[in-house]
Amino acid sequence: MALTAKLDSKPNNSLWADTAECFESKSQFADSYDVAIIGGGFSGLWSAFHLINLNPNLKIAVFEAKVFGFGASGRNGGWASSDYPVSRSRLIKRHGLYRTNSLFNALISSIDEIGSFAQRFAPQSHFTKSGTVTFARNSAQEKRLSKSADELHIWKSAEELSHLIRVSDARGGLFNPECATVNPMGLLHGIFEYLKSRKVDLFENSFATPIPSGVLVNSQSMRANVVIQATEVYGAAGREFIPLYSQMVTTEPLPADFWDEIGVKERFTFAEGSHLINYAQRTADNRLAIGGRGATYPFGSRLMEGKEYTNSVHQNIRQLARKWFPQLENVSFTHAWGGAVAITRDWEPYIQFDIKTGFGRLGGYAGDGVTMSFLAAKIMANLVVGNSSELTNLHFVNRKIRNWEPEPLRYIAVNSLVKLSGVADREEALTNRPSVVSKLIAPLILR
Ligand SMILES: Cc1cc2nc3c(=O)[nH]c(=O)nc-3n(C[C@H](O)[C@H](O)[C@H](O)COP(=O)(O)OP(=O)(O)OC[C@H]3O[C@@H](n4cnc5c(N)ncnc54)[C@H](O)[C@@H]3O)c2cc1C
Repeated sequence: MALTAKLDSKPNNSLWADTAECFESKSQFADSYDVAIIGGGFSGLWSAFHLINLNPNLKIAVFEAKVFGFGASGRNGGWASSDYPVSRSRLIKRHGLYRTNSLFNALISSIDEIGSFAQRFAPQSHFTKSGTVTFARNSAQEKRLSKSADELHIWKSAEELSHLIRVSDARGGLFNPECATVNPMGLLHGIFEYLKSRKVDLFENSFATPIPSGVLVNSQSMRANVVIQATEVYGAAGREFIPLYSQMVTTEPLPADFWDEIGVKERFTFAEGSHLINYAQRTADNRLAIGGRGATYPFGSRLMEGKEYTNSVHQNIRQLARKWFPQLENVSFTHAWGGAVAITRDWEPYIQFDIKTGFGRLGGYAGDGVTMSFLAAKIMANLVVGNSSELTNLHFVNRKIRNWEPEPLRYIAVNSLVKLSGVADREEALTNRPSVVSKLIAPLILR
């Protein structure tokens, strides 16, 4: 018997969770399933979605240890983007042009497929595909961004940029049309309801572990021919991935005259082209939701809830928002939260399925998982039913994951990177020249 889900519990402290509907999950397990999925985030739910669409006869269950959307899927910045954690030029060097193009084509199609789903089944996700802008606020950023313009990333002069967004000290920026803005919890809820309507069993408060014959859930064993582990950063990391914390804040809903001054009329996502990652969106209810990195990596890759609330990082993000938009001076910030993302040594995701044992796992999206989890889950579902296609031949499918360095090397290297990213940004803001420090940190992560 599974525990009964607490229907009124919020999965986390995000704005999305605060304003979301509750999930009404099942409480009675069956004795056996064709496919048991562990983890109730995007990877788990999209895996069930693709599987049930490939084979409607499959008996599928999803087991979530806490509540659906507890993890990064219910906490993220809502960028459904074609971004990939490794740059296009580095990917071409690693895997060749053809395979790199196949990956980006698959990511772009995935955004549109998520959009079609959202339109029919998740209107509460407020899916809006209107691109993304990365702006430069000093000449070092301007040089770096304008140099990386390509057919997908179109350089806009300061004057052109001002028609899209008005940020202080803006010197132009890149516009990429292949990105959508979502309320991630709204999207997750739409997938959840869809799966319920397709008779997939969905369980909360169900801590699951793979065992040879299936899964052990809250001390009850269940047979399953296939087990998919979709626990991302919550899985046993060993040295295969590290957790890095990303944090977010949101303002109260902002009045129309604020947005008239700022722009972002079409609700595209936006960020500054700094070394330390940051990301923002205008929410459907007209708040500014903005996030960024900066929290230190925990020794031994241990997950530490306290890191989600690193006050100095939340403070830095609020300050960054006010630097971009001085009009925010007297505006209240209503929510502050955070979560961890899983990063492999080469910053690429993994999708592994062993047909002999029936065990599969997927993850390692390094902060670009909203679109990627859809694609990874689609590939996983195809592997499970035995389909082979261009997607199942993408370069990261069934690859061996390279280990991170042992501690304390890992701790020293990753935290140096986090610290030096901030130093590099301050150096560029001061000198207006590309940072010397940034040249030193690039090889640290092989990104
Ligand atoms: C603050 C923040 C901002 C981000 N912004 C973006 C963004 O704008 N765009 C983007 O593309 N990506 C973003 N990401 C990353 C993205 O959210 C993740 O890559 C993605 O949601 C991962 O989905 P998932 O389903 O694999 O993992 P999760 O959503 O973490 O789901 C895993 C689930 O497994 C459950 N679980 C763990 N162990 C067990 C167990 N033993 N039994 C049962 N259940 C278990 C957990 O409770 C959890 O709910 C962000 C992440 C964070 C933290």
